[in-house]
Amino acid sequence: MTKNLKTLIDKLETEHTLTKPEWVTLFDNFDDELRAYAAEKARAVSLREFGNKIYIRGIVEFSNVCKNDCLYCGIRASNSNANRYRLTDDEILSCCDEGYGYGFRTFVLQSGEDHKEYPASRMAEIVRKIKSAHPDCAVTLSLGEMEYDDYRLMREAGADRYLLRHETATKALYQKLHPEAMSFEHRMECLHWLKDLGYQTGAGMMIGAPYQTSDNLADDMLFLREFEPQMIGTGPFLPHKDTPFKDKAKGSYELTLFVLSLCRLMLPDVLLPATTALGTIRPDGREQGVLAGANVIMPNLSPTAVRKKYMLYDGKICTEDSTDKCKNCVQARMKRIGYEVEITRGDHK
Ligand code: SAH
Repeated sequence: MTKNLKTLIDKLETEHTLTKPEWVTLFDNFDDELRAYAAEKARAVSLREFGNKIYIRGIVEFSNVCKNDCLYCGIRASNSNANRYRLTDDEILSCCDEGYGYGFRTFVLQSGEDHKEYPASRMAEIVRKIKSAHPDCAVTLSLGEMEYDDYRLMREAGADRYLLRHETATKALYQKLHPEAMSFEHRMECLHWLKDLGYQTGAGMMIGAPYQTSDNLADDMLFLREFEPQMIGTGPFLPHKDTPFKDKAKGSYELTLFVLSLCRLMLPDVLLPATTALGTIRPDGREQGVLAGANVIMPNLSPTAVRKKYMLYDGKICTEDSTDKCKNCVQARMKRIGYEVEITRGDHK
């Protein structure tokens, strides 16, 4: 069996695609040996594409106010235990200034869906200010679903990239993870708009989300193959105590690493972060993610005072530390496994 499965990994490596039944076979039958086989190949691909350099992005979580009610997410609207906060424009800019001093050349602005307080016009102004203070930096936005004209306005203001995980490519699963008010079709439409507008676009899914099957993951891989995002954000599902999914099992660490390797083999030059969720499920998760083919790490640039409030899932790491500590910690972690943090924008080729 393992021999056949290895043949599938070989096929993915050379042809960069698999059929749906082949994906399902991999997800249903992989073991540690196969995972190591895929990781070794994926790592060789990322070394070929990027050398031993890891791109860093500083993430500023500027508001945890959210109008949405995703069943998995700790900052969902109906979580009345969440202690809500919003950063001012000046606070956001200071985070970027501080990050610049530590060598960050990409700033990721992420929030809940707080579009009334932070409409596209305000975000465009913030992007302009960051760009004029730091013309050599990239700005990535991760603000959830908006309309075409909103994305256009922010793109025209200079935003370079946008992260919007598709969450799942299976509509029926999407509906189990989100309230009725949210639309699978609109999220997918947003992703296409972003790409059309010339954003380097990031899609992605949680691994081991409640109700997720191998069939669903196969659909995710087929979607990613077809959509060809410049970035893929994927990490394990982790429960949050104040959500309807509080008693659901967390996603598999091993499966997450395996998916990272498969993404690298499928889209060799994709920007692939070893996510904070991966570092939360295992203390050396991000290092193992890099060894499985990831090439990006996104340390936290938010003010220490608000970090604990942007709690998407229980146990999120790096909520105590200051920015310089996070930067040094990530640098040391990478060094230990033979990689170096690179101080550039780290654009998609
Ligand atoms: N409002 C933005 C940002 C969402 S938070 C948006 O809609 O895109 C960023 C990502 O965190 C989400 O896309 C989701 O995939 C992930 N996430 C949320 N809750 C999580 C949980 N409980 N476990 C793991 N990942 C989670």
